[in-house]
Amino acid sequence: MNKKIDEAQAFLDEFIPLVWNEKDVDIVIAPPFTALYTVSNLLKITNVSLAAQNLHQAEKGAFTGEISPAMLTDVGCTHVILGHSERRTLFGETDETINNKIQSAKNFGLEVIFCIGESLSERESGMTFDVLSRQMTEGLKGVAPDGIIIAYEPVWAIGTGRTATTAQAQEAHEFIRRTLAGLYGSVADEIRIIYGGSVTAENIDSLMACADVDGALVGGAGLKAASFARIVKYNK
Ligand code: PEP
Repeated sequence: MNKKIDEAQAFLDEFIPLVWNEKDVDIVIAPPFTALYTVSNLLKITNVSLAAQNLHQAEKGAFTGEISPAMLTDVGCTHVILGHSERRTLFGETDETINNKIQSAKNFGLEVIFCIGESLSERESGMTFDVLSRQMTEGLKGVAPDGIIIAYEPVWAIGTGRTATTAQAQEAHEFIRRTLAGLYGSVADEIRIIYGGSVTAENIDSLMACADVDGALVGGAGLKAASFARIVKYNK
């Protein structure tokens, strides 16, 4: 819940020129619903795609206050973030709700950035792999692997400044890759697994050096054009 329309506009004025030449990286911006229309227009002839941060699974109807996948594609979204830990913990979204949302998003041709991750107490009690396995198995029930991006976001690392170590990130990503192989077979190697949780311009290079880290989901450091551009241009 960051950036009003004029702030999103000012961000893009600064950000787009910094990344327009980055052809080898897929860049997606996920502003709040209220800025989607403006941002969509500003992204039209750029190399940056548009995501929403949530959706309701129904196409339309009596769901006051909700936004449907059809509305998101209508406004120019190609992606949607689903299962973010804040949706799970603050808004009561279950694995089943998230599964319904993923299926609906895919039916409307949206690529899904599907967030999973363990809490601190789950990690400390040795439950990390059990939690990841359950979230994936339940969340991806009946879902084909095309258009799915997995975002591993350990809850204890989100917005805390406490990034997972490269060893922790690689261990979790490797487990996720193996779990995907169990669900989908060899296509698991092509599924993008991105890391989120206090990613910064300073730690992106080492995270991206991990064999199974294919990208990043960036929160706080994505709010400033210069730091987000440096993350896009990791290793440069
Ligand atoms: C997030 O909000 O999903 C996130 C990863 O935030 P941050 O990068 O600030 O930890």
